[in-house]
Amino acid sequence: MADLQDILYSIYREIQPRIGEGKVADYIPELAKVDPRQFGMAVLTVDGKIYCVGDADVAFSIQSISKVFTLTLALGKIGEGLWKRVGREPSGSAFNSIVQLEHEAGIPRNPFINAGAIAVTDVVMAGHEPREAIGELLRFVRYLADDESVTIDQTIARSETATGFRNFALANFMKSYRNIQHPVDHVLGVYFHQCALSMSCEQLAHAGLFLAARGSNPLTGHSVVSPKRARRINALMLMCGHYDGSGDFAYNVGLPGKSGVGGGILAVAPGIASIAVWSPGLNKVGNSLLGSVALELLAARTGWSIFGD
Ligand code: GLU
Repeated sequence: MADLQDILYSIYREIQPRIGEGKVADYIPELAKVDPRQFGMAVLTVDGKIYCVGDADVAFSIQSISKVFTLTLALGKIGEGLWKRVGREPSGSAFNSIVQLEHEAGIPRNPFINAGAIAVTDVVMAGHEPREAIGELLRFVRYLADDESVTIDQTIARSETATGFRNFALANFMKSYRNIQHPVDHVLGVYFHQCALSMSCEQLAHAGLFLAARGSNPLTGHSVVSPKRARRINALMLMCGHYDGSGDFAYNVGLPGKSGVGGGILAVAPGIASIAVWSPGLNKVGNSLLGSVALELLAARTGWSIFGD
């Protein structure tokens, strides 16, 4: 395999003519203002070497990538009991779909579609006020990234609170099935703040490293989850991390990954590296268009697909 930094440069060069492709998420007004002509990528190997290209140090709205971190927290709080509140199956429908929820009596398909993530946030709150739950989440992500400078973009959180009608609908619907225990506006207050976490590719790659390294961060020595739990979170990311584009992502890239409508993707090469990529233009199902292309090129050039090279 060629040198990793050379591989990143080659991907960057190949992607250059396509920079700006895709459509920036505009259902959250603040996200609509993001310049689509940006691209960054960071690869952090389990032995602590970091390789970056493009805008890898620019902070962006991680949106649904945060669902990996709240899932980790929720499993830490109630363990396998979480699976009474949310399923573990791919959804095959849009990230904010409500149809399936009615068929399945208020139990969302998986923790990575919006409904599932909102139920997970309800678990994370564990009787606390929104402010405390947001504080706990921010501390956790800073601990994972080993970086105290990670923040929440309040403007984005406010923008989504003002326009998140569908998420209110999903949460109220689940509440009617008693699958939300806290007041709906409190749960969504926390959910919108977690989605508004602002991180660079470098920070995100650090925060995801425990998933590539059997549950512990080899750089800090922090033990986050057991190897078994890390394996299972990776399994969920592979099956459900890209909404109804998860099959395509597994087919083309072959790595566990989680996308967000801010244009970021966190991918995990188990035992090898944590990878973060960001490009704001999205494809039809709401995943970063060039981010997916870049990861496909990376997997092809490194042979890192979990299905073999
Ligand atoms: N905050 C976004 C929402 O709830 C997250 C969606 C995403 O990143 O996929 O609509």
